Amino acid sequence: MTVPVRTLDDGAWISVNNARAVSNSDIWPLASYDFCDCDVAHVLCESFFDVSVHRDTIAVGAVGQCIDCGSQDTIDALPVGRVIDGEFRAFEAGALQAVNEPQS
Ligand SMILES: [Zn+2]
Repeated sequence: MTVPVRTLDDGAWISVNNARAVSNSDIWPLASYDFCDCDVAHVLCESFFDVSVHRDTIAVGAVGQCIDCGSQDTIDALPVGRVIDGEFRAFEAGALQAVNEPQS
């Protein structure tokens, strides 16, 4: 089953199954991703430039900024949630997550 995913509003939203699923005002704690010098980078995703599906996991490409140190960088494939039975289930924004290597 293919789940339609795309970016909306110039990267302000991620759409999953034609519904707005992830907004660019979310902050993602990145513990295992080398984003900046912080132990855990709290990254505000400013805009999304890519979204992809690997198996049932939705990953986004985003431009983000660490709200702790101010570093700005891009993230190639940040997992933000999964599709279970055709429905998007966001990962807990406060949960530490592993970032998959891009597979494409
Ligand atoms: Zn930082």
